[in-house]
Amino acid sequence: MAIPILYKFFVFAFGAAVGSFLNVCIYRLPNSRSLIRPRSMCPQCGAPIPFYDNIPLVSYMVLRARCRNCSAVIPLRYPVVEAASGLFAVAIVMRYGLRWEALVLYAFVAALLVVTFIDIDHQIIPNIITYPGVVVGLAASFFSEFITVKDAVLGIAVGAGILLVVALGYYLVTKNEGMGGGDVKLLAMIGAFLGWKAVIFTIFLGSAVGTLAGLAVALKSRKGRKTAVAFGPFLSLGALLYIFYGPELISWYVHLLGR
Ligand SMILES: [Zn+2]
Repeated sequence: MAIPILYKFFVFAFGAAVGSFLNVCIYRLPNSRSLIRPRSMCPQCGAPIPFYDNIPLVSYMVLRARCRNCSAVIPLRYPVVEAASGLFAVAIVMRYGLRWEALVLYAFVAALLVVTFIDIDHQIIPNIITYPGVVVGLAASFFSEFITVKDAVLGIAVGAGILLVVALGYYLVTKNEGMGGGDVKLLAMIGAFLGWKAVIFTIFLGSAVGTLAGLAVALKSRKGRKTAVAFGPFLSLGALLYIFYGPELISWYVHLLGR
């Protein structure tokens, strides 16, 4: 749908501001630290960051990626998350329009961003995101025109069920924990927000891309298959692709099979 450029700009700014908060979540959640206190500070010198140095994307450029006080380099991660959060906000509004269901979807995408970077850093997916995520996704389905309650419940069951079986099988065969319990809960959350079809789609896509990446890492490190590859980012990628291209990709695939 056509949305005026000014709207898009505001939506982007909103998304980037949320992204700024997501950075805090990514940085503090794994260490069980408070999200509101203390206020933002430079991890290098401890100097508090004033609001005018905390403007999403803008401050990073103005400060040329360095702390004003000690000149420590600000990781590229911060503006990347802010930009991604802003762009996803615009993309969701463009695809689904300005409606509350789109806001729910955006909250879900924001959660995926946090999960992705925490999983890359620490190989964990915090329950504090996935448990409330399942509840919020399910609750939203009662009022949503995008998804039925039945679909959300099936999504949770299929998501948790399939991955539990796969994880168990993988463990029995390799005696390695290839997939953690965090992945199971993440897939349940994906099911709650997007329904059971999205779960199947996400598993297909996530395992295909994840396996390739895992092979690449294993080849590069020459450590063999034991190298742990965080699976969360690939599941998140699958869910994101479903949000924007899911129905198209599914019908393309069905056509391919039917030929
Ligand atoms: Zn500093």
